[in-house]
Amino acid sequence: MIVGIDLGTTNSLIAVWRHGEPVLIPNAIGHVLTPSAVSLDEKGDIIVGLAARERLSTHPARTAAVFKRYMGTNRELHLGKKEFRPEELSALVLRSLKADAEALLGEPVTEAVITVPAYFNDLQRKATKAAGTLAGLEVKRLLTEPTAAALAYGIGLNADEQYLMVIDLGGGTFDVSLLHCFEGVMEVRATAGDTWLGGEDFVDVIVHDFMAHMGEAAGLPPVSLLAPIHGVLRRQAEMVKRRLSEADEAELSLAYQGKDLTWTLSRDRFEMLSESVLARIRLPIERALRDARIKPEILSQVILAGGATRMPMLRRLIGRLFRRMPLQHINPDEVVARGAAVAAGLIGRSAGLEEIIMTDVAPFTMGINVSDRQPDGSRLTGVYMPIIERNTIIPASRVKPVFNVEDNQTAISLQVYQGEALMVKDNILLGKMSVRCPPAPEGKVQIDVRFTYDTSGLLEVEATVLNTGVTERLLIEGNPGSLSREEIEARLQNLTKLKLHPRDDAENAALMARGQRLYEQRLGHARSVIGDALTGFISALEAQAPERIRTTREHLRQVLEAHDDEPFI
Ligand code: AMP
Repeated sequence: MIVGIDLGTTNSLIAVWRHGEPVLIPNAIGHVLTPSAVSLDEKGDIIVGLAARERLSTHPARTAAVFKRYMGTNRELHLGKKEFRPEELSALVLRSLKADAEALLGEPVTEAVITVPAYFNDLQRKATKAAGTLAGLEVKRLLTEPTAAALAYGIGLNADEQYLMVIDLGGGTFDVSLLHCFEGVMEVRATAGDTWLGGEDFVDVIVHDFMAHMGEAAGLPPVSLLAPIHGVLRRQAEMVKRRLSEADEAELSLAYQGKDLTWTLSRDRFEMLSESVLARIRLPIERALRDARIKPEILSQVILAGGATRMPMLRRLIGRLFRRMPLQHINPDEVVARGAAVAAGLIGRSAGLEEIIMTDVAPFTMGINVSDRQPDGSRLTGVYMPIIERNTIIPASRVKPVFNVEDNQTAISLQVYQGEALMVKDNILLGKMSVRCPPAPEGKVQIDVRFTYDTSGLLEVEATVLNTGVTERLLIEGNPGSLSREEIEARLQNLTKLKLHPRDDAENAALMARGQRLYEQRLGHARSVIGDALTGFISALEAQAPERIRTTREHLRQVLEAHDDEPFI
């Protein structure tokens, strides 16, 4: 059975193609969204999902989240004394999703389609594949998230030619992709985005306004000194944000030093305060259209993905920009996973996915350092000369000439960079090579520098000295952030030794983690009521008394519901 997986920054989902449609698979506590968070418990077992997310505030040193941001890098994250690479943490999330699917389907799940952001470079894609291998999954295909969103809407499955834009605003990232579908091909024509823009920025807006109105008057310290209630305030602000997607106003209440601070925010004011964040959303949309040289009128569809696109102000902005309402009838949290399941279904039925989803674009500009002659005759060194520009369809090969800058120069040093900045120092150095230069006056030696970038993300640089016909080559594999086959094998051994917290205990674990978080956050009477309910539940668990476990769990759940405004999701 092939499953489709949306391995997200905040949440992950798993789905399967069944009876002609995508079906989302619930986790052990019945939710289809599994937070992409991993924690190591005191026994050394791994906790994944909601319980792990709750432990972010109670056990920060043993818990990790948002590790998708580090895929393709060598950064290791600590859970207690153990260190994990981002692909290992992702593998643990995948293993938990795989177990959920196996529990529902009653058969082993060994193959998967996993989605990745369209801008993921080769290292990030390799890391995602490695995560699949480490979770015991053969990754049949990595599918870009916008392509998956389009497939969920059935786009790309027929021969109609069309352009569409997928706008994905998640918790902390914003991605815009322009797709071109024609004759069974689906091509990502341009990607743009902001890796530090998302739903969280709108929470910041609410927190700041709350502090501006209630902070000083209520004797609250500045936000930076507000810990530990800062976490509570953010959660409350998150709830206000979600309520304002439905209602005209929402209330935020915060208990502080025995006082109950209650404040009301209207949707109008929230939208007014969010204007600067909204303005940042326009830029990548305009850039993607410009890069692909597409006028908004040509787009036949705009698709929304990511939970934060539920905000009415965002939908209105999109409506204004494109003069059409976006497609939004599939739940934006689920649309990518549903599309992954469509792809899994096509592969499972050998229905020719290979033919329909193909080309990609270079996610970044790549170029070299040059020096620039100024009008006064001086030279400015370290200037960036792009050779393959971002959003060029790959595979691609481009050539540009450079010349010697001094009389009788013996060698020219070529430095290869990735990035968009004018000066090379602000871009990322990928590699260097030195090209021998025959003696000649300034400007008389021409070197053709050719960049060839293939679909697996390998960049080959060839420098041909026209005067001598000699060609030198440099192959840039950008290996530092990826694991070799042997390393994956070794890490697999280590990971399989780690036990996932038992599935049938997931609900208890999530409830305990939530109880512990609330216990730490609350004070006074609320804290002691939560403490009593928790100890009652823990002692019932220790006594392994099924009836007592049931009643104390129900009591704990009621106490938590009464003290936590946040729904248990
Ligand atoms: P994702 O990464 O796609 O799961 O999106 C998560 C983001 O969507 C978070 O910032 C949530 O606060 C946001 N979100 C989810 N539901 C809503 C809603 N009803 N209104 C506003 N934002 C929401």
